[in-house]
Amino acid sequence: MFVQCPTCKQSVEWSEDNRYRPFCSERCKLIDLGAWANEEYRVPSEDEDALSDAYQQSENRKVEE
Ligand SMILES: [Zn+2]
Repeated sequence: MFVQCPTCKQSVEWSEDNRYRPFCSERCKLIDLGAWANEEYRVPSEDEDALSDAYQQSENRKVEE
């Protein structure tokens, strides 16, 4: 079974092996969860660490609010 990654629209196999489903990768999952990033984090980055930092910041933000 294949689904479409909500972030990049790529076909992704829905399997137990894909722990990021329905996303194709951790990166797409983080991007989707951090949709605010489109507004505040404009730097297109392949850097996983930067995305992880951004995700953590968004988590902290939720706690504060
Ligand atoms: Zn994707």
